[in-house]
Amino acid sequence: MHIDAHQHFWRYDPREYDWIDESMACLRRDFLPDGLKPELERAGFQGCVAVQARQTVEETRWLLELAAAAPFVLGAVGWVDLQSPEVHSQLETFAKNPKLVGIRHVVQGEPDDRFLLRPEFLRGISMLEEFDLAYDILIYTRHLPVAAEFVRQFPRQRFVLDHLAKPPIKSGSSQPWARGIRDLAAFPNVLCKLSGLVTEADWQQWKPEHLAPYIDVAFDCFGPDRLMIGSDWPVCTVAASYARAMDVVKDYLSRHPAQVQAAVLGENARRFWKLKP
Ligand SMILES: [Zn+2]
Repeated sequence: MHIDAHQHFWRYDPREYDWIDESMACLRRDFLPDGLKPELERAGFQGCVAVQARQTVEETRWLLELAAAAPFVLGAVGWVDLQSPEVHSQLETFAKNPKLVGIRHVVQGEPDDRFLLRPEFLRGISMLEEFDLAYDILIYTRHLPVAAEFVRQFPRQRFVLDHLAKPPIKSGSSQPWARGIRDLAAFPNVLCKLSGLVTEADWQQWKPEHLAPYIDVAFDCFGPDRLMIGSDWPVCTVAASYARAMDVVKDYLSRHPAQVQAAVLGENARRFWKLKP
């Protein structure tokens, strides 16, 4: 089964999605399961994992509602207030739902570059294992050393890095990004999504060969059993159609054996989040 490990849904409201600026005007509308389904099917994918875009418990509730109504949405990565004294009860409320597979916080948006290491945040993360929930790490390249310090503290927690920590594809440079990726990948409980890459490239001019060197590093560091393909739809549409964003990774994989392709295109995501198609 081919699974898209990273996409979003929203009902557009300029106040709730204020990061969608003029340059991303094509994202200023609703994106719901009915819009994603035909895109998935055309690209040969049968399931997906919906990831939070708003930092509210209402977002988690809403994604779980969508997942309940759309069987191809195999899981949801929600948001709870990991820093709150209430985090345990929030997790208890949602974790009963088998479609809640993970939690994410928009750490890239936090002004404190060492946010991941705040005691209240670490306390919240320490509770995820009890509820068998994974954690999605959403950061920029500059946060990679802090992320390594962070995951070191939780050897039994399942982590997945979003968007390869946003490599500098536009500039074409590789360091210090590649070093940071290698250090984080040294922790065997961290997986990585091959997602969001077209958005980090030049939106108008990008070519698959601009992305390939970064996917090479991901393969070298994480290996084929710890990588999963993700579209980052609808955000990817600022730079590519759904099919084209997925084809970059699918075409890259075509030089690998069928078993490797199956792993990255779905099996690793299924196993990591314990998805039940
Ligand atoms: Zn995303």
